[in-house]
Amino acid sequence: MESLWMDFANSMWRDWKGGGPSVDRLEQQEWQQSFTAKMKYAVNQPDRTELERARLLRDRLLRYAENLAAGVLLKDSDIEYLNEVMAGGTVTRRLMAAGSALRMELEPAGSGWGQVLADVAADFARMLSEQDISRIRCCDNPDCRWVFYDDTRSRTKRYCDDKLCGNLMKVRRHRARRKAQAHKEENN
Ligand SMILES: [Zn+2]
Repeated sequence: MESLWMDFANSMWRDWKGGGPSVDRLEQQEWQQSFTAKMKYAVNQPDRTELERARLLRDRLLRYAENLAAGVLLKDSDIEYLNEVMAGGTVTRRLMAAGSALRMELEPAGSGWGQVLADVAADFARMLSEQDISRIRCCDNPDCRWVFYDDTRSRTKRYCDDKLCGNLMKVRRHRARRKAQAHKEENN
């Protein structure tokens, strides 16, 4: 499951294979453009203050996700902070036809980075209030820590991607076992 807030939180890219430097994609114009291209309103390149606010929100979302994955809920001050960020954007209520049914939608009515951050915070807030927060995970690969939503029936998904981080960790465990075994044999 992809979501706006998770894409935003995962803008902090880490070298999941280990050893390499992390890249803060939030600072890259290319990432900013591809992220805001999903918005239906105009967003320019962020100025220094907007970038600082964006980074603060991103780092907080990462911390909240780490905490939720560990069973630690948001504090009152965290909720207050999210409300402040959401107040930086405006929405219009709109009744829309969805096939034969009708759906009530909140459409962004502002523009710029204030609206972007408000929409990201709102997406996170919606998940807190409408989805199963006990399914939020951070990848078990310590070099990755990518945020994801575990939608498996068994609720046992540990890695952001089983083929990438999952395999890498399997190889690491295997190597560690072999090393321990060799060490034991040497000492015998
Ligand atoms: Zn991962």
